[in-house]
Amino acid sequence: MKATILLIEDNEKNAYLVTFILEKYGYQVIHARDGKTGISLAHRNKPDLILLDIQLPVMDGYAVAHELTKKEELRAIPIVAVTSYAMSGDRERILAAGCSGYVEKPINPATFMDEIKQYLPAGKKDNGARRAQ
Ligand code: MN
Repeated sequence: MKATILLIEDNEKNAYLVTFILEKYGYQVIHARDGKTGISLAHRNKPDLILLDIQLPVMDGYAVAHELTKKEELRAIPIVAVTSYAMSGDRERILAAGCSGYVEKPINPATFMDEIKQYLPAGKKDNGARRAQ
């Protein structure tokens, strides 16, 4: 079964790169450029995983994670923060906001999929797509 991943990211370059990698591995990607849109798309699509940029306009990633985990019907969806802020202290803050983990920017295309795969629900980890060479 094809897993759906919601990407909440305002930076077009990062969004393009992440989408490119995920689609290459056979995942379906839904993209939101701000937190509010991300939350409504999470409600509408019930993705298998949410990739969340922390530095977002208006509503930052911490606030978005907090909102998402407050909702009973969304609570089970793992959230992985994608952040360049992952210094000591921020890790705790990311986890306290309700994220399952984080991936550091800049995105490394060679390791990105392996990093986020662990957060996908069992049975949705591999879509049978050919691995990158
Ligand atoms: Mn950003």
